[in-house]
Amino acid sequence: MTGSGLRPAVEVVEAGGHVVRIVDGHLLAAEGDARPIGHDLPHRGVELTVDAGGYRARWSRDTFSLPALARVFAGGAAGGALLRLLGLPGAVLGTLIAVGVARGARPACPADLADPAVTVREDGPDLVLSSPSLAALVVAVMELTGAPGPVTVSPASGVAEGVRLADVGGLPDIVAQFRDVAVSFRHPDVMARWGATRPQGILLSGPPGTGKTMLAQALANEIGAGLREIRTPEILDKWVGNSEKNIQRIFAEAREQRSPTVLLFDEFDSIISYTGAALDAAGQMINAVAGIFKQEMNTLIEANPNVIVVATTNFPDRVDASLVRSGRFDLKLTVPLPGPQARADILTRLVRALIARHETPGFRMFADDLDIPALAAATTGLTGADFKEALRRAQLAKAMREARTGAPAPPIGHAELLEALTGLRLAGPPALG
Ligand code: ADP
Repeated sequence: MTGSGLRPAVEVVEAGGHVVRIVDGHLLAAEGDARPIGHDLPHRGVELTVDAGGYRARWSRDTFSLPALARVFAGGAAGGALLRLLGLPGAVLGTLIAVGVARGARPACPADLADPAVTVREDGPDLVLSSPSLAALVVAVMELTGAPGPVTVSPASGVAEGVRLADVGGLPDIVAQFRDVAVSFRHPDVMARWGATRPQGILLSGPPGTGKTMLAQALANEIGAGLREIRTPEILDKWVGNSEKNIQRIFAEAREQRSPTVLLFDEFDSIISYTGAALDAAGQMINAVAGIFKQEMNTLIEANPNVIVVATTNFPDRVDASLVRSGRFDLKLTVPLPGPQARADILTRLVRALIARHETPGFRMFADDLDIPALAAATTGLTGADFKEALRRAQLAKAMREARTGAPAPPIGHAELLEALTGLRLAGPPALG
């Protein structure tokens, strides 16, 4: 794939002093089931979705500065009126205009503002805004939350801090299984009607940097769940009995969660090593920790269907076998080192996400000569994490050059990216294959 195929379509819409960047708007079209939309609204609680009925924004009413207004509009009202009430001239909506498309990779599509009506209603503790126009909806959210913008929205959330399954490259089967888990969590009523139990324990094993942690984070975002990440130091304690207590505390908190939560045990093997470990004090401690973990996980899964436990490990054979066998990890998935096609897919997604986030009509981050299959072919043994690092270095080199000289640096070209990638391999541990 060359540069132009990589470049997402960016629409820039300006309205009443607000700027909304819509990335790959054509991919945002609804497909029936509600799908999340990535965004970088600074107000983190805002959830944007699209379904067959149009675009929706939902967030907690408590954080909204004009709660009385929401009540006035309970049941739905025209968005033009809403914005007028907020002190905006009604004409603002009429003058919403598309001011540009980031360079000519795709034909300029006029912004979708033919019907800019925004309706608002209260739904329990939430405020829900709906509109057939994504730009009008985002402008309304910006008004209500006081976001200065510009705000970028896109199908994958490379633009936002919340990574999505669509951002994960080269692992289509695993992503498909994770999507199923997410669907089962979004439809608890259907699951209950059929007496179906959804997977609540997932073990991901594979070499470092292949995307295991990313998958867990993406799953949480896909479900709209909170992510509680537990690292080794939070558990292991040199004092006898304290590690067990730490595990009990973490699981006790998880049992109380009333909203969906992904409990992520990163580098699980260092927390729960194999029972065959030495029978010295350290070995015994690890055995005790594994025992408690098993017990707590059983109790949690029976007590609280809102929690999914995801454990990641680079060393699956170090994880206590009885724990893995215990039936509590319904999904045990191996995340392999990416092959050439998977590498091309990962690179494409990383580059597209950077373009979506940083390119503007006046600024180009990547040149058109990027040849992704050639880069993928030259990077045997590298992982997604390596690609991310090489891109970070290439970005930094450009920024430093521009900062030092004061002259705009040209976009990152194929040769430069290849050099950053191969330089990484020379500097890093030997390639694996
Ligand atoms: P692991 O947990 O397997 O060690 P991470 O999930 O921490 O790996 O990967 C680090 C970063 O590398 C991720 O945040 C992501 O930016 C990038 N990355 C790794 N694998 C992939 C992938 N398959 N697709 C897209 N990005 C990836």
